Amino acid sequence: MAHFPLLNSPLDLGFTQLKNRVLMGSMHTGLEDGKDGLGKMASFYATRARGGVGLMVTGGIAPNRAGRVYPGACKLTTEAEAQSHEIVTQAVHREGAKICLQILHAGRYAYSPLAVAPSRIKSPISPFSPIPMPGFVVKQTIKDFIQCAVLAQKAGYDGVEVMGSEGYLINQFIVRHTNKRTDEWGGDYENRIRFPIEIVKGIREAVGEEFIIIYRLSMLDLVDGGSRWDEVVQLAKEIEIAGATLINTGIGWHEARIPTIATMVPRGAFRFVTKKLKPEVSIPVITTNRINTPELCEDILASKDADMVSMARPLLADPDFLKKAFQGESSLINTCIACNQACLDHTFKGQRATCLVNPLACYESEIPMTPAKNPQSVAVVGGGPAGLSCALFAAKRGHRVSLYEASSELGGQFNMAKVIPGKEEFYETLRYFTNSLKKWGVEVHTHTPVGVKELEAGQFDQIVIATGVYPRKVRIKGIDHPKVLSYVEVLKGEKKVGERVAVIGAGGIGFDVSEFLTEQDHGHENPSLHVGAFLERWGIQENLDAPGGLSPRAPEPPPASRVVYLLQRKSTRIGRGLGKTTGWIHRQTLKQKKVRMMAGVEYEKIDDAGLHIKVDGEAQLLEVDHVVICAGQESQNELADALRREGLSFQIIGGAKEARELDAKRAIRDGALVASRF
Ligand code: FAD
Ligand code: NAP
Ligand code: SF4
Repeated sequence: MAHFPLLNSPLDLGFTQLKNRVLMGSMHTGLEDGKDGLGKMASFYATRARGGVGLMVTGGIAPNRAGRVYPGACKLTTEAEAQSHEIVTQAVHREGAKICLQILHAGRYAYSPLAVAPSRIKSPISPFSPIPMPGFVVKQTIKDFIQCAVLAQKAGYDGVEVMGSEGYLINQFIVRHTNKRTDEWGGDYENRIRFPIEIVKGIREAVGEEFIIIYRLSMLDLVDGGSRWDEVVQLAKEIEIAGATLINTGIGWHEARIPTIATMVPRGAFRFVTKKLKPEVSIPVITTNRINTPELCEDILASKDADMVSMARPLLADPDFLKKAFQGESSLINTCIACNQACLDHTFKGQRATCLVNPLACYESEIPMTPAKNPQSVAVVGGGPAGLSCALFAAKRGHRVSLYEASSELGGQFNMAKVIPGKEEFYETLRYFTNSLKKWGVEVHTHTPVGVKELEAGQFDQIVIATGVYPRKVRIKGIDHPKVLSYVEVLKGEKKVGERVAVIGAGGIGFDVSEFLTEQDHGHENPSLHVGAFLERWGIQENLDAPGGLSPRAPEPPPASRVVYLLQRKSTRIGRGLGKTTGWIHRQTLKQKKVRMMAGVEYEKIDDAGLHIKVDGEAQLLEVDHVVICAGQESQNELADALRREGLSFQIIGGAKEARELDAKRAIRDGALVASRF
């Protein structure tokens, strides 16, 4: 039986054929900037090509110095640089896939005082005011785009993607808000879109007919003064005439204050935008954003919303996504949970990207999971993310693995994460591990707390302790009052929570608990699962009439189901430690729910009246029904201590090893690294 027949059908581009309908979208991994050559980048793309992707696009590469995302970032301007890319194109072609190079000019988003733009208008997300481009620089920049495409062709690329979305230079020319020019590149819409049209036309003339040109079209800017829908359509038609082969969808500028790819965005939330554009052009269109399962891809193609589907992070998470889908094993796909923690957050901090659920991503040639030379019997104690990862990788390498979990279900703290509104994707990670452990023959023992005796009796060659963490106990007068609950009691539904609540601790879990408490029993559709509710919550106009797709009236979220105070002792801004690319969404969501966030709080006591605090030396009483403690965790390492006393050797990973700054990214990576070594 053919699995996902539409997704697995070729696309004829006339001069060439793509083997299936998946485009691996552009992701900046940091490997493009490789000081020691592009070997790691080649391994990264070759691994995805082997996994069945038909067409892939590299991370953004600048056509000149000014266009680099930051000084020192990659560019393609010389024959020597083109030659250094041959290792990448050859590796991909050997695996039977095609690859395009993305040409990205950052414009005013470049992290540099030498950033250029159509006009001197600073972006709200950049500290630098850009230098306005004189007319001759505009013309030279068009030539640089064309030269970059010619060099890409010489390097063996099958095409280029011209980055015309997400608020980069091309977008900055198109939108009046960032383009105040009065010359031939500014003013009327015809003038403002001349820049991308000249680029595409020039590239087509220079590279000939048999070279793919993808144009990433900003279909929904999500910023004030963004393009109107009729303007988007006009540009799409002009780009087709200019010679593009495919049109890809771009949603939202980087400075837009609306989530577009984070985990609280419902799956396929923006497919309706591509669907609306499709009948306007005759070249194939590609849809994108929060598409992470083959079932959803097939549905999009069956509904004729798009001709191809772009996925980027899902192929970071699982390079074998398509192979598994086409073999009927989609239940074994390691699904991208859209957390951004190890990919985008890393990129924005200048670190190499990887993946929370797949620590091998971008480390393909550095953490090889080769078959074990000497298969051993391995006991893994604790079925949280660290233990699951270690057990699975060890089994894949050929070891005989037994996994022991004290509770009734695998997943550890992820079982609490998955009930948070907007974190529903975390279910998928547990589904992936559960099914994969079965496939790879791991003996799973739930309801099985393990001690020294059991481990001694098992005579294992290797013991791995992954017993995780427990909530930190805090010392506040009245901490034993019945009003006091732990986040575990709340999220596991063990205790009923009143209508007025104080949350002590404003880390990731304090934020999650506040979201849970304000969204729970709400009676409204969950905006992370229902596209209509999401668009309404964030003020996106579904009929796309208004400029930038923004609703003219401010969104009015439904009232919160509880009054919540979120507290911390530090006087720093609340939520400062949250994810680089997602922290603002969590802060904005709680603001919409009118959660009262208070920093610099001293906790005095808890009694029948509520929580007594001091802020700036001033006493206050928060008259709450419950106080939920989210004050971090401590390592659960009694078993490790006992093993040490008995002189048994073992390895320790995840929260059991170190609770400070623990997250699932570290837990899963710890598990993988230990499993790669025995
Ligand atoms: P744990 O998850 O604590 O797992 C340890 C397991 O060991 C447990 O299942 C326990 O029952 C078992 N065990 C203990 N002792 C024994 C024994 N003697 N025998 C057998 N079994 C035993 N992290 C992120 O990175 N991103 C997020 O968005 C995120 N959101 C979160 C939201 C919430 C609400 C919570 C609570 C946590 C969240 N986390 C998040 C944190 C993440 O879940 C933890 O960092 C991760 O679970 C730690 O993994 P671990 O395997 O070390 O420990
Ligand atoms: P955390 O981020 O360390 O936050 C703990 C909070 O408790 C802090 O706000 C701290 O602030 C407060 N606190 C610490 N000791 C206290 C004490 N003795 N008394 C009162 N308050 C105290 O830990 P967490 O929220 O439990 O999260 C655990 C891990 O899970 C984190 O490392 C995080 O990365 C991960 N996680 C991530 C996400 C995500 O979205 N990425 C979501 C959830 C969890 P003060 O000291 O200022 O009071
Ligand atoms: Fe997806 Fe998170 Fe992995 Fe990024 S880190 S690819 S968002 S699962």
